[in-house]
Amino acid sequence: MSGTLSGWGRFPVTQVARLARPRSETALRDLLAQGPVIARGNGRAYGDSAVNADTTVDMRGFNRILDFDAATGRVTCEAGVILGDIITAFLPRGWFPAVTPGTKLITIGGAIAADVHGKNHRRDGSFGQYLDWIDVMGADGTITRCSATQEVDLFRRTQGGMGLTGMILRAAFRLRPVATGWIAQDMRPARDLTEAMQIFEAATDSTYAVAWFDCLSGGDRLGRSLVMLADHAEVAQIPSWRRARPFDVPMRAKRNVPLDAPTRALNRYTLRAFNALYHWNGARKAGPSIVDWDSYFYPLDAIGHWNRIYGKPGFAQFQCVLPLDASRAGLEALLNRIAAAGQGSFLAVLKRLGPQPTGAHSFPMEGYTLALDFPVTEAALSLLAELDRIVLDHGGRFYLAKDSRLDAALLHRADPRLEAFAQARAVAGLDHHFNSGQSRRLNL
Ligand SMILES: Cc1cc2nc3c(=O)[nH]c(=O)nc-3n(C[C@H](O)[C@H](O)[C@H](O)COP(=O)(O)OP(=O)(O)OC[C@H]3O[C@@H](n4cnc5c(N)ncnc54)[C@H](O)[C@@H]3O)c2cc1C
Repeated sequence: MSGTLSGWGRFPVTQVARLARPRSETALRDLLAQGPVIARGNGRAYGDSAVNADTTVDMRGFNRILDFDAATGRVTCEAGVILGDIITAFLPRGWFPAVTPGTKLITIGGAIAADVHGKNHRRDGSFGQYLDWIDVMGADGTITRCSATQEVDLFRRTQGGMGLTGMILRAAFRLRPVATGWIAQDMRPARDLTEAMQIFEAATDSTYAVAWFDCLSGGDRLGRSLVMLADHAEVAQIPSWRRARPFDVPMRAKRNVPLDAPTRALNRYTLRAFNALYHWNGARKAGPSIVDWDSYFYPLDAIGHWNRIYGKPGFAQFQCVLPLDASRAGLEALLNRIAAAGQGSFLAVLKRLGPQPTGAHSFPMEGYTLALDFPVTEAALSLLAELDRIVLDHGGRFYLAKDSRLDAALLHRADPRLEAFAQARAVAGLDHHFNSGQSRRLNL
């Protein structure tokens, strides 16, 4: 099959000569023998990291759960299994992903290739920290099992390697035990950035912490936000009438965005109004509450095709991490610039990350990460280029899973590890076999 393809942001759109969905290792090996490829999971990376104009390989045909150890919570599965299916299978037995991003609609291969992080990165690290081993198919079709003690280099480079080291076929990883399907949340409104960062720094006992920012407020309201601290609820914390079936939560109704929204529906006035309303509404709910796991971790999954609200031109996400000592100054500079421009997201998200993970090119580092969406317009793209320079000046780096438009030279200056990655790929000849729109654009 051929056609056009893009990531979740629907930008850029690429004409792809072949989109294949193999269901066996033999079929996959045949594809690899025919020229350059990139693996694609569930297409939730925002840009062109899972798009190859020659051959893009949809890995969702490899979707079997192979083994589960009920004593340790270790799952062994194929790389195309969807994270949400893992939750459906194992939450009723008291297990939940140790690390999850803000959507459950990703594959395990995509989680490894981006080494995804969640709201608990500071305490628990990224997905790779729970990986026992992975099987990777190389350009010649051979399969290598790698782990922290076996073929270590391949193991470390594949985590956060964005599909550029080979095709992940299978993985064994550990889940975390939980007592209920409920989350004990403590919502703390913060007047400004100082208050928000104070809440994060003091929240060392909470497993999860995230802040939703109003990124259009400037001046003395710069950084006005709702900080949500949370933990998995114990049985005694949930209402007594739910305790007999602590993993049963009400199913949410799913709604769809049926059509592309007209782009002019999103402007600084609608965004400002939305942010003010969201903050006011959240502040009313300040304090502790019990929420179900699906609404807490995956609020956007209830709205199918929500990426259509930005209209046909699509949208770009900006996600950076700033080192701890430069976080305050860097965030202030970024938020001031965004507030002055008057364009930005419905919501911006701030998280406190912990130390760098074991993956050789993983995104996280100890500090603060800011993520926000911009509808793709010329004005937004030039604002984003300014934001990039602010990140570079403060020693920060960028998240490849969210990128669709970074500049190669700037990226390599911000993250010198990627130069070494590109060289290692060239030496091993991998650059001829595994590449994506992103790897070509960014010289990876
Ligand atoms: C609403 C939303 C919220 C998100 N929140 C977060 C968050 O909180 N934290 C976070 O870290 N990320 C977050 N993300 C990003 C998302 O977790 C990652 O982009 C993830 O990689 C997507 O997985 P996927 O299966 O859709 O992979 P795709 O988007 O299809 O591919 C992503 C990368 O993985 C590679 N890949 C996929 N499968 C394989 C395989 N089998 N073998 C080798 N390489 C493979 C691809 O080549 C590509 O480079 C979010 C995304 C969305 C849409």
